[in-house]
Amino acid sequence: MTARDPIADLRRIAFLLERANEATYRVRAFRSAATALGALPARELAERARTGKLTELPGVGDVTARCVAESLAGEEPVYLRRLLATEGTDLDAAASALRTALRGDCHTHSDWSDGGSPIEEMALAAVELGHEYVVLTDHSPRLKVARGLTADRLRRQLDHVAKLNEALPEGFRILTGIEVDILADGSLDQDEELLARLDVVVGSVHSGLNDERAKMTRRMLAAVANPHLDILGHCTGRMVSSRPAGVKGPGDRAHRARTRAESDFDADAVFAACAEHGVAVEINSRPERQDPPKRLIRRALEAGCHFAVNTDAHAPGQLDWQRFGCERAALCGVPADRVVNTWDADRLVGWARGHAAR
Ligand SMILES: [Zn+2]
Ligand SMILES: [Zn+2]
Repeated sequence: MTARDPIADLRRIAFLLERANEATYRVRAFRSAATALGALPARELAERARTGKLTELPGVGDVTARCVAESLAGEEPVYLRRLLATEGTDLDAAASALRTALRGDCHTHSDWSDGGSPIEEMALAAVELGHEYVVLTDHSPRLKVARGLTADRLRRQLDHVAKLNEALPEGFRILTGIEVDILADGSLDQDEELLARLDVVVGSVHSGLNDERAKMTRRMLAAVANPHLDILGHCTGRMVSSRPAGVKGPGDRAHRARTRAESDFDADAVFAACAEHGVAVEINSRPERQDPPKRLIRRALEAGCHFAVNTDAHAPGQLDWQRFGCERAALCGVPADRVVNTWDADRLVGWARGHAAR
């Protein structure tokens, strides 16, 4: 006797994944498992779950087996619980409400690194979008392909931003920042003294994306524990498409060649550390990144993390891509009060200063 029907739970998960527009293979995994397990006598199902032999059946993997075991124990499967967080909400309305609640953008590039426009053009576009601030986060020195800023150039940029801020409309500010490379040992690629001066520090992995799991996990944990880090940028490094939606590009072969799998790391350990150290997990809005994937956003949410819905804009028009990130956040049930760029500039900067002081 159990309180739940594991097959119904698997079918429900498949339905909710479909509703959230998840990849077909993921939906199918739950449906096939439901079909395979639904054909077994209840006693055999229980016996296999007890002895850990569910995964010997074709179409049943670790994730589906865990759901069945939880269900048979009378618990709502964790996977199902995460999906149910958005049950009954109007997702379009939730996404728009979140977009409206955003007051700024914490990840943007200018032509000082690999962006296409001067800082002032980015700032003026942000003003027109109704933002109260934009954090300028050009790349760090080791990212040479992106013309990462040396310490000297970053110092000059800080002086330049201070001057620009004097001329910008009242009620809008460019906040200083960096997208600093997380190096192989987890340290951050910029002078300590400069990182301490910046308003907001986004840290991202751009190299060694295929590091093996334990190494990548150590690397990310070290970065998250660094008191200067405020936001963990595009944490899996995946590329789901080589070009933004609606943009014509190379043919299929080239397209595939430029997509990139997620980096392998212990997401639960990294998100637990983010929650502990108060580091926000970025929801990167770029259509070709969509990083992290929704299943990881849900896990970060359960871990208690804060988020930042950022565009990673390299041109003024891309500053309007936040709605893509908001849609993904809404699909995962991320509430506005967990998103740091719904805060005003003073609160955001105060929060970031709090990290450096810990
Ligand atoms: Zn990046
Ligand atoms: Zn970036």
